[in-house]
Amino acid sequence: MIKPLPSGSGTNATLARHVLRLAGEIGDRNYLLAEAQKSAASYISDQFRLSGYEPIEQAYPVPGPKGQVQLRNILAKRPGSQPQSPILVVGAHYDTKSGTPGADDNASGIAGLLELARRFHGTTGSIELRFVAFDSEEPLFFFTKNKGIPRITSPTTYRPSSTMLRWPMS
Ligand SMILES: [Zn+2]
Repeated sequence: MIKPLPSGSGTNATLARHVLRLAGEIGDRNYLLAEAQKSAASYISDQFRLSGYEPIEQAYPVPGPKGQVQLRNILAKRPGSQPQSPILVVGAHYDTKSGTPGADDNASGIAGLLELARRFHGTTGSIELRFVAFDSEEPLFFFTKNKGIPRITSPTTYRPSSTMLRWPMS
């Protein structure tokens, strides 16, 4: 039997709401479904904003079936007190494998990311925390340079000693 969803403002309820919004209401979201992908991106930006961040959108074009498509990574930064200290990137992708609602892959990862970001807002620490929802992880981008991840990890945004945690871990 399926358990009812938790209600209220606790962590479980919040995580469930993110998954429901992304996988249940928006559903399949990838470069083939630009509108759904845009809705997912705005939802993520809004959530970062609600947590107190000024989200940064990193847009990039990729070739789509009917011409170029704009994809975007969304970043929220909790600054570190040491400007040259490493950055800890906490990331999850929000696109789906075509034809799936993407609940465990990867709305659940995004839910965890948003909740962690919310909890870390306003905290202090020596290292910068960079929460990143990235695009184009799934096929066809799996083995190409068009993935969202390399854009985050490019030398300009990623210091050499930085570490990245992401969902799924593979
Ligand atoms: Zn995935």
